[in-house]
Amino acid sequence: MRYGVFSDVHGNYEALRAVLAFYKKNGVEDFVCCGDIVGYGPQPLECAEALLGLKSLTAVLGNHDAALLGRLEMKWFNASAAWAIEFSRRRLTGRALDFLARLPERAVTGDFTLVHGSPRKPLTEYLLSGSQFADNAKAFEVSPCFIGHSHMPLYFREGEKGVPETDFLRPASRVATAKGPLILNPGSVGQPRDGDPRAACGIYDPQKKVFELYRVFYDVGATQKLMGELKMPPILAERLSFGF
Ligand code: ZN
Repeated sequence: MRYGVFSDVHGNYEALRAVLAFYKKNGVEDFVCCGDIVGYGPQPLECAEALLGLKSLTAVLGNHDAALLGRLEMKWFNASAAWAIEFSRRRLTGRALDFLARLPERAVTGDFTLVHGSPRKPLTEYLLSGSQFADNAKAFEVSPCFIGHSHMPLYFREGEKGVPETDFLRPASRVATAKGPLILNPGSVGQPRDGDPRAACGIYDPQKKVFELYRVFYDVGATQKLMGELKMPPILAERLSFGF
């Protein structure tokens, strides 16, 4: 079995469609989503429904999802992010809203741990440094731990002499997962922030013990056009062109 691991879809259905098509082409049928299904993008309902349609999905709540549900204060979000959360709240109904409301903050299976931000603070911590990794390594048992939140494809592990080792995951990067603790961020599907506008996603093979990072082209212009029609804050559409 191989898992399609992805995060931070953020209502960008064009990007999500491209990533799911990439997984289908590669025979991946089991999925892991590290949260933030809504926020920023124009199609939160379509994204939630697409994830609901997946037969095998393990997913957790992101901070934007939690804010939509009223479980995180809006003061944590800048004006355009807050705008998009209110917009998403008006769009999400019925089964899609129930789906979001049922997501846990942490999931643990025999193959991995899953949180949005960090193992010790699942909804709020941006895990970006080796010292943060060292503190978080004690907060999960099943390795690897998949995270999202920063929109940066990264890995963190214990290196030589116990010194934390971390680096960006470039397209076609492979990380051996046999030795833990290991934390992996597959980057963002719907709003990449590492200067590459392509959607980011990963494939994890627990038998071969390897994680691979991929970038997938999608129709950025189609998402931006829709955002314009919906009169969303222009900055949210513009940044998609640059991956920032
Ligand atoms: Zn996010």
